[in-house]
Amino acid sequence: MTKKAIGFIGLGAMGNHMARNLVKAGYSLAVYDLNPKPVEEIVSLGAKKAKSSADAAKSVEVVITMLPADEEVKAACLGPGGVLEGAKPGTVLIDMSSIAPHTSKQVAAEAQKKGIRFLDAPVSGGTTGAEKATLTIMVGGEKALLDEHMEILQVMGKTIYYVGDVGMGETIKMVNQMLVGINLAGIAEAFVMGTKLGVAPEVIYKIVRASSGNSFLIDHRVPNYIFPGNFTQPGFAVDLLRKDLGLALESAKVSKVPLFMTAQAYQYFTRATAEGLGKMDMSAVIELLEKTAGVQVRGKAE
Ligand code: NAD
Repeated sequence: MTKKAIGFIGLGAMGNHMARNLVKAGYSLAVYDLNPKPVEEIVSLGAKKAKSSADAAKSVEVVITMLPADEEVKAACLGPGGVLEGAKPGTVLIDMSSIAPHTSKQVAAEAQKKGIRFLDAPVSGGTTGAEKATLTIMVGGEKALLDEHMEILQVMGKTIYYVGDVGMGETIKMVNQMLVGINLAGIAEAFVMGTKLGVAPEVIYKIVRASSGNSFLIDHRVPNYIFPGNFTQPGFAVDLLRKDLGLALESAKVSKVPLFMTAQAYQYFTRATAEGLGKMDMSAVIELLEKTAGVQVRGKAE
């Protein structure tokens, strides 16, 4: 079967790797980003350069967007020079950005008016997962449409879940991000507290990992980011997590679910952004508490 032609919009920390993997897998790509640098990089691998989102969507069967947040997705899809302006009826738009479920529904409804079908397919797994094509992808929309495009998603991810109607992929992604934010704020507090009370950070790490307080984020963020105090290496930015927690709080307003812990975590990451840590990995949130407590959680994992 011939491979579908794809328009790919948003070649940042994630999209860059995802687009590369598609090119490597033999897909014909038309790529667009506001930033010309990653466009040139992917074009040098064999992709075509598009002049706008509309142009990237013009002669393809599938358009993939991987953009920072709701505003960028709306601009690139619904705005002037956007996907809906260029795409022909029958095109499928797959938005892989992490945005609010209600925005996915809005984009899907506008797309439908033009005969364009829509899937929301946000991801988890970070830049490493994007590079190694091991992302977890959570999909909302018609199941048959997902089945039709499974092969494309499998080039970028390892585990692909069908969640439900449009917006449900984003919903589960939001739920995951609530847990990330709450867990990370908790790790910061617990490790700073233990260190302040005189337990060596390595000892906290070793014993917690063998106990019920352990988590995926402890396993990964403590040895790789917190212990070396290196928060500038590629990771998941404070600003992005703050955005995701904000989406959960926004949804909570509408659904009238009180989210006490998420609200606290949101304040942690807002403070981190306000103090200039927005572009750093989300684990940098511990630095604020370290300063306040006058200790540093540094060490070497065994
Ligand atoms: P990024 O900021 O690195 O990349 C976004 C890209 O979109 C940039 O290159 C930017 O120039 C481009 N862009 C912005 N507006 C545009 C427009 N209107 N038209 C064309 N291009 C435009 O972001 P990222 O880290 O790649 O994340 C993308 C999405 O994936 C976000 O929603 C994020 O929450 C989610 N996500 C990120 C990670 C991660 O580890 N970075 C992990 C999982 C999910």
